[in-house]
Amino acid sequence: MAIEKSRNFITDIIDAHNDSGRYEGRVHTRFPPEPNGYLHIGHAKSICLNFGIAERYGGLCNLRFDDTNPAKEEQEYIDAIIEDLRWLGFKWHDRVYFASDYFDELYEMAVELIQIGKAYVDELSPDEIREYRGTLSQPGIDSPYRNRPVEENLALFEKMRDGGFNEGEAVLRAKIDMSNGNINMRDPVMYRILDAAHPRTGDKWRIYPMYDFAHGQSDSIEGITHSICTLEYEDHRPLYDWYLDNIEIFHPQQIEFARLNLSHTIMSKRKLIRLVREGYVRGWDDPRMPTISGLRRRGYTPEAIREFCEDVGVGKVKGVVALHKLEYHIRQDLNRRAQRVMAVLNPLKVVIENYPDDLLEELEAINNPEDESAGTRSVPFSKVIYIERDDFMEDPPRKFFRLAPGREVRLRYAYFITCTDVIKDETGQVIELRCAYDPATRGGSAPDGRRVKATLHWVSARHAVEAEARLYENLFTVEHPEADADKDFTDFINPNSLTVIDPIYVEPSLADAQVGERYQFERLAYFVVDEDSTAEKLVFNRTVTLRDQWRKLRKQGGERGKSRRRKAARTV
Ligand code: ATP
Ligand code: MG
Repeated sequence: MAIEKSRNFITDIIDAHNDSGRYEGRVHTRFPPEPNGYLHIGHAKSICLNFGIAERYGGLCNLRFDDTNPAKEEQEYIDAIIEDLRWLGFKWHDRVYFASDYFDELYEMAVELIQIGKAYVDELSPDEIREYRGTLSQPGIDSPYRNRPVEENLALFEKMRDGGFNEGEAVLRAKIDMSNGNINMRDPVMYRILDAAHPRTGDKWRIYPMYDFAHGQSDSIEGITHSICTLEYEDHRPLYDWYLDNIEIFHPQQIEFARLNLSHTIMSKRKLIRLVREGYVRGWDDPRMPTISGLRRRGYTPEAIREFCEDVGVGKVKGVVALHKLEYHIRQDLNRRAQRVMAVLNPLKVVIENYPDDLLEELEAINNPEDESAGTRSVPFSKVIYIERDDFMEDPPRKFFRLAPGREVRLRYAYFITCTDVIKDETGQVIELRCAYDPATRGGSAPDGRRVKATLHWVSARHAVEAEARLYENLFTVEHPEADADKDFTDFINPNSLTVIDPIYVEPSLADAQVGERYQFERLAYFVVDEDSTAEKLVFNRTVTLRDQWRKLRKQGGERGKSRRRKAARTV
């Protein structure tokens, strides 16, 4: 599936560069994750954008780990990020880089800035630095260390590098302008001391460059032409430009776009880590997480995620995309590709009294009405079956068209049955139905042309395979879990975000289903086989319901809900 080649403000900028010859027609982007967590759906937008632009212009896109903060970064995250990117279907060939590969060059660049009098070692404490920085309305104050001679700065920077200072005792700062209206330009810190071993450079360094000092120069070293980032970095662009201009190296163009926000979830890695560490979810790949690995385990396809990213588009305006938009795309994709099967989540036993005791019929079922090439399979039918408990009502309201005493319905691919008796336990709970079938209706239609209003799915009790189903709801009960400044986002965790049903009954064709295979359980939802499945028991994750429950609810609540409500209730 090709990424749709829609235009946006970024392609306008690139086209203008190509017209003016600024980068000689070259287009080279990068995706720069910090390996301090797993990728989420917001990253997917950045990934699709960066790789998509490169593809569109016949250019290149690098993968670069922005690993400048050893305190929070781990190999586990690097591996997970690579796996997720591969799964999404993007290729960087051998162009995987690490900002830490450039530590030597960055150090040299810092020395250069010291030599031209544009950087100095500051020994103010972190608190003092903050104080001296000023505020949005107040200019900052020069540090007393600001005007040290070059030689002294060179010696002190070496001392920082060689362990002569403790963490927090000294930093290297750019000498720009303490009264600049943009706080980022008030002598930003370039290097700080961190007593942490780095996953890649080990204990070679005890000073580490700040993001702003590392990012633009890494772009420059790699020959990136367009450095696409999110809007928070707009105020950092003057600094991005200042470093490149003063170090006098190749100058990529930074371009900012609005980050993706999604309703009913959170996206910041700092908070996602809390969900994992505090045990609100089972891990980074919990199917309720907005991570790529979570979505994969939930049953999402790379294609659906890419379509979604294309659909939400690229712009400069901040906003929140409704979660159901993401669900729409997986529904569309699975409708095309998922095999249909029958499974009963909440079983009610049905005995077809006039069906021969030991007869077994193999009925032909269509695998995917959207895809003829998917063919057919056979489904066993016998005297005792399970149907969905919700498909029967003893005393049905007017709009309930499914099974009820005395009523005839169709069993998918099988026969018409009529409910003849209802059996209850001592508490009054219905535990079994007795029905009669019409042998003339085999395949699901009556020779006399009589009609039924409902078709039910079923599973032959004797042949049913027991499995576990995990039903997921939104992880948060509110649209914007981060909106209330007085509350912690964990206050809005949905206590019902996971419902486990065990056992469910699935048709025997699923006995050999493999981890990752996606199915539509007819009339219920799309499901995927979870990696927790064993030889004894399959585990299915519900990816998404068949219809958009949220929209349905909204419509039912709305003014115009009436006629639609009737229709919704009729849909069986
Ligand atoms: P988070 O806030 O989740 O920690 P981050 O920006 O710190 O995200 P990075 O690993 O630095 O995470 O992000 C890698 C790239 O992905 C960056 O270019 C960043 O701008 C982009 N990105 C991160 N979050 C989003 C988002 N929600 N929408 C679009 N792009 C994003
Ligand atoms: Mg970041």
